[in-house]
Amino acid sequence: MRTEFTAAQLTDPGLDEANSILRKCVHCGFCNSTCPTFKLLGDELDGPRGRIYLLKNLLEHDETPSEKIVSHIDRCLSCLSCMTTCPSSVNYMHLVDAGRSYIEKKFRRPFRDRLFRRLLAMTLPNPARFRLLLIFSRLLLPIRWLLPGRFQGALNLRTPSARAKLKQNGGTQDLTGKAVGLVAGCVQQVIGGDINSASIRLLERRGWRVHLLSEPACCGAVEHHLGKEALAEKRFRQNITDWIEHVDEHGLEALIVNASGCGTMLKDYGHLFRNDESLAADAGRISGMTRDIAEFLSDHHDMTNNGDVEQVRVVYQSPCSMQHGQKIDSQPLTLLRQAGFNVKELPEKYMCCGSAGTYNILQPAIAAELGERKAVYIEQADVDVVASGNMACMMHLRQFTDVPFVHTAELLDWATGGPKPF
Ligand code: SF4
Ligand code: SF4
Repeated sequence: MRTEFTAAQLTDPGLDEANSILRKCVHCGFCNSTCPTFKLLGDELDGPRGRIYLLKNLLEHDETPSEKIVSHIDRCLSCLSCMTTCPSSVNYMHLVDAGRSYIEKKFRRPFRDRLFRRLLAMTLPNPARFRLLLIFSRLLLPIRWLLPGRFQGALNLRTPSARAKLKQNGGTQDLTGKAVGLVAGCVQQVIGGDINSASIRLLERRGWRVHLLSEPACCGAVEHHLGKEALAEKRFRQNITDWIEHVDEHGLEALIVNASGCGTMLKDYGHLFRNDESLAADAGRISGMTRDIAEFLSDHHDMTNNGDVEQVRVVYQSPCSMQHGQKIDSQPLTLLRQAGFNVKELPEKYMCCGSAGTYNILQPAIAAELGERKAVYIEQADVDVVASGNMACMMHLRQFTDVPFVHTAELLDWATGGPKPF
């Protein structure tokens, strides 16, 4: 694609990067074929190729974006399916991140939107505030029908296991092995404690000492995807500094992540700080040692010899941040099959379920349509349980089907001696 940035503009590293990304695009439109919003809405500007044009014009002409342009960019799920499909390796993720940050600076959203987005950025990354939000949301449940759609979406954040406790080393394992860090996550450490506990048991059973990283809590993805770059950058810097301290102090070999959205974010720290003299090396180390739990287990262990779960039928829901963001696709399936489960895959597996970070709260109608579409395939699969690698997808999809959802790590934990998770 021909670009028209001026020489002065290209001295800005962000615009220089956008220019390089844009110049790779050959406008073939292959990406539209796997874009969930293009499939649903049928508008070129709600597909990746159209959005790339919009972002090009915005960044080149340094204009104030119109409400219409913002709505097309806002409707993008950041699912990155387009990146998997693109034959020219266009890095849409970095381009749309730059666009979101630009919109945040140049476009004044209506007061209610600004308030709502600020509320999300203030609460989700902070476990204490998020706990309060959960309690408050449960109080609002009886009158949820009185609330606007977005607020109804926010109520879906609730789950009953709000204070799950984490147990490390029950004393049954010989933990003479090497050490890894487990990133506890912000939302996950509040409502996904069972997933973290299962991950710890699973790793300890294989002889790894697990150092739980519950602080800093958030990887920064929430603020980053809301375009709140100053807040996100502050958090990234803090995380890199603190986590490197943990890594060096405890001799950690890897940082294990079991929420794939966070994994994608951590793996991008190295890129984000590549031009920062003081942090580039440490950011690169964090990215280089981040592993999704399925990726890590698949690299180091096999899960065979667990006969008890053979009759359990599982369908695997592949989170976008895992399959598109980190290119981890076959590993969870292989591990589950090794462990003895009868595993199926979903049709249209490349399609986002609609969860997408805060998307299901900010764009509830599209998110629900995608969730219902996924739920139909889940029901047709006729299984006992759905396995996923991302708690956000599980929480979102639970609204649309009664088939139970568990994390892949919980199933693997069960198959190797842990409690039954559903
Ligand atoms: S598939 Fe890639 S090269 Fe083709 S239009 Fe989409 S982003 Fe551009
Ligand atoms: S990230 Fe997903 S929703 Fe956004 S343009 Fe790409 S495929 Fe479409």
